[in-house]
Amino acid sequence: MKAFDAAIIGAGVTGAALARELSRYRVSVLLLEKEAEPAFGVSKSNSGIIHAGTQNPPGSLKARLCVEGNRLIAGPLAAELGLDFIRCGQLIAVFDPADLPRLERIKSEGEAMGVEGLRIVDRAWLEANEPNLGPEVRAALFCPTAGMISPYRFVYALVENAAANGTELRTGSEVAAISRGADGVFALVAGGQEYRARFVVNAAGLYADRIAALAGLPPYPIKPRKGEEYLLDRKREHIANHIIFPLPSGKSKGILIIKTSDGNPMIGPTAHDTGDSGDLSTTDEGLAEVLAGARRMMPSISRSDIIAYFAGLRPAAGDDFVIRHEDALPGFFSAAGIQSPGLTAAPAIALMLARLMEGRGLKLEPKKDFRPLREKPVHLFQVSPERTRELIAEDPGYGDIVCRCEMVSAREIRDAIKRGARTLDGVKFRTRAQAGRCHGGFCTTRIMKIMREELALSPLAVTKRGAGSEIIKDERK
Ligand SMILES: Cc1cc2nc3c(=O)[nH]c(=O)nc-3n(C[C@H](O)[C@H](O)[C@H](O)COP(=O)(O)OP(=O)(O)OC[C@H]3O[C@@H](n4cnc5c(N)ncnc54)[C@H](O)[C@@H]3O)c2cc1C
Repeated sequence: MKAFDAAIIGAGVTGAALARELSRYRVSVLLLEKEAEPAFGVSKSNSGIIHAGTQNPPGSLKARLCVEGNRLIAGPLAAELGLDFIRCGQLIAVFDPADLPRLERIKSEGEAMGVEGLRIVDRAWLEANEPNLGPEVRAALFCPTAGMISPYRFVYALVENAAANGTELRTGSEVAAISRGADGVFALVAGGQEYRARFVVNAAGLYADRIAALAGLPPYPIKPRKGEEYLLDRKREHIANHIIFPLPSGKSKGILIIKTSDGNPMIGPTAHDTGDSGDLSTTDEGLAEVLAGARRMMPSISRSDIIAYFAGLRPAAGDDFVIRHEDALPGFFSAAGIQSPGLTAAPAIALMLARLMEGRGLKLEPKKDFRPLREKPVHLFQVSPERTRELIAEDPGYGDIVCRCEMVSAREIRDAIKRGARTLDGVKFRTRAQAGRCHGGFCTTRIMKIMREELALSPLAVTKRGAGSEIIKDERK
């Protein structure tokens, strides 16, 4: 049986970024994901902020890799992969002038880590540049390098480009057993198949502790920390010009007003430890906390602006990322505890892991035919009416609007399926169809019909997010 050079467990942003990084080299890479599609773990439920690199403990991996990840995303990755990265900048607001020394400290710590362009701005600046801020906000730290991205489209772009460069992706492949033979090669059982790999990377997010235990390592103490987020109607798109933070608490960056790359602003997240890695519930208390925090900074935000909500779980393993070679199990690497700012840091984590793997004998010889570029998919919500007219002239499928809330055409949905979408959520994350105010009430059946045509699927086999979430039940069975 073929032995891959490297097997990566988990196709979230960490595993996807590593797969893409390794795909530059003449090594064979297997990316194993237990869910029906990539980006169905923590990487789908977050704030989508590409942090500047402030608010992390100086000297931590989080601090260093966040600054480096921001540069990689804003620079080569956005250009090569056609990412929807928007550098809108962030503000860290203070309500009490007595807190200005804390802001100064965040600024000098950020500067020491290499964060560029930081400056403290006063009330007059804020009134001119962020007019909807409430009167309580007295000053802020302006961090111009922060931005926003679509987190799942980021993962899909990485996976697509890695696959175009030879990475083999296996979804629906939950790693259930790991052993290491006398020849030092690992055997992994996933989705009922056996695979062999010389190097293994555990990038399993909330389940990294289980993978460590399967490999016979002492499990990491993963303590999920829940964050509830509330999405506002797109009509509030221009409520803020920046991502707005309060001063961080000991545990989190606080309740934020988040611009998203798709238009709808978002408020949140909470930060509460939970013992349950499956607890994605939202609560009345969470909503009250988020609304109070957001309204203190921007009083015009109201409960009726909220159109959707979700919770995500930060896979915390102590205060920092755990990125290392496991000396007790040569050839096995961990990328665990990838809590916030993991989305930002992922490309830098990937570089660090690649260096660690090279240090342990993975030969990284550049591929002559590496293709760094990926064609960006068309999203009508991002293009001008003139360009939309041209696209419709090229293919009338662009004029066949399936999701009216978000203006998504049949052609965009077909493209998403051709690029790998296999579930209704996969279509939603790639295109935004079903993500609007009606939550798919209007377009779901139409999307199912397109999936049936493109994938030759029985309607009974169409799922929301994989096996067990079928939309139509056959009552005859
Ligand atoms: C509420 C919230 C807000 C956040 N906001 C931000 C932000 O604004 N900016 C930022 O930089 N970071 C943010 N983060 C952090 C960021 O989302 C995470 O750091 C990042 O998504 C972690 O990615 P990952 O790939 O390590 O984990 P995941 O995305 O969870 O990927 C792990 C993958 O492994 C798979 N897997 C698990 N077990 C197995 C198995 N046995 N076999 C095969 N596959 C398996 C899972 O299905 C999953 O797809 C936020 C997090 C939360 C919860």
